[in-house]
Amino acid sequence: PFEKSKGQHILKNPMLVETIVQKSGIKPTDVVLEIGPGTGNLTKKLLEVAKSVVAVEIDPRMVLELQRRFRGTSHSAQLKVIQGDVLRCDLPYFDICVANIPYQISSPLTFKLLSHRPAFRCAIIMFQREFAMRLVANPGDTLYCRLSVNTQLLARVSHLLKVGRNNFRPPPKVDSSVVRIEPRKPLPPVSFKEWDGLVRLCFNRKNKTLGSIFRQKTVLSLLEKNYKTLQALQLSQKGSVEDNKENADDVSVLADAIGDFNMDTDVEKGDEDMDVEDADIGGSGDGSSFKEKVLEVLKQGDFAEKRASKLTQVDFLYLLSLFNKAGIHFS
Ligand code: SAM
Repeated sequence: PFEKSKGQHILKNPMLVETIVQKSGIKPTDVVLEIGPGTGNLTKKLLEVAKSVVAVEIDPRMVLELQRRFRGTSHSAQLKVIQGDVLRCDLPYFDICVANIPYQISSPLTFKLLSHRPAFRCAIIMFQREFAMRLVANPGDTLYCRLSVNTQLLARVSHLLKVGRNNFRPPPKVDSSVVRIEPRKPLPPVSFKEWDGLVRLCFNRKNKTLGSIFRQKTVLSLLEKNYKTLQALQLSQKGSVEDNKENADDVSVLADAIGDFNMDTDVEKGDEDMDVEDADIGGSGDGSSFKEKVLEVLKQGDFAEKRASKLTQVDFLYLLSLFNKAGIHFS
C-alpha cells in the first residue's frame, strides 16, 4: 500500500515520535505545519500539544485515512488537511514545522520554508543522514558544501537525533537524522543572488585555491561581462546606479556588523606559488586589466591561497563585500 515514489516510510516507533515532538518545543499556542502526515502517527502527538496542526499531504488515500483517524475525536477541530504537493501550494501561517518528509524534496523544501514569510520559529525535520550532515557541516568537514553555506546564511542548523532505518515501515535504504532549523532574524542584509553566485563559483572546485578558480578564463569572462554590463547601465541610467550602490552598501553594513575580519593587505605572495591555469585575458597586461582587478581583490583579503572548503560564513561575506566594492558582481 505504500508508494516508493512518494517516499512513504511510516514512523512505527512511538518512543521516537514522542522524542521528536518533545524536542520541537511546541507551545500550546503554536500553529504547527506538518508536511507529509501519512497515516498520522506524528500528527496525533502534535495535536496533543499544539493549538492546531495544518498538514499538507500529496496522496489522496493518505488524506482520507488521516481524516478518518481523527473524525469524531476531540482533535478534529484542531486539524486542517491540505491535499497537494507542498512544493506547489501556498503555505499558511505557522509557528513551527515538524515533518518526516519524502527525501527527494529535501532541498527545494528547505529553501521554500526559509523563504516563507513571516518567518517561522523553528523547523524540526527528518532528513536522509547525509543530507542532514551536509546542512550542519562546518568549514573543514568533508561534507561542507554550497548547501551548508547557503542554509547557514539564512538559518542556524543543528543536528538533533540519529534515526536508524528500522524505525520506519517499510525501512528506507538509508539512515536518517532529525535536524533543527531556526531562521535567522534579522537576515544578514546581503543579496542572496550575489551570495549564491559567489558561493557557487567557489564550490565548483571546492578544494582548489580561490586564486586558481578566479584565474579560469570562463570565470573571468563571465565576471567581466557582468562588470561591463553594469558599467554601461550605470552610465546610461541614474536609477540603476542607486540600486547597485544600495546592494554594495548592504554588504558592507553586514561586514561592519560582524567585524573582526582579517584586514591585513600587506602580505604579498609571489605569483610563483599560485597554480596559474589560463593565459592572461583582458589583453593589455597593464594594471587596468580585469584579471588584475579580480586578483587584487583576492589579495586585499588574503584569499588567493584559501579554499572554499575552509571558508567560514564571515569569510564569504567579506570576500563578497570586497568584490562588490570593486564593482564586481555575481548575478
Ligand atoms: N509523517 C508520516 C510518518 O512519519 O509516519 C509519513 C512520512 S512519509 C516519509 C512521507 C509522506 O509525505 C507520505 O505520506 C507521502 O505521501 C507524503 N508526500 C510525498 N511527497 C509529498 C509532497 N510533494 N507534498 C506533500 N506530501 C508529500
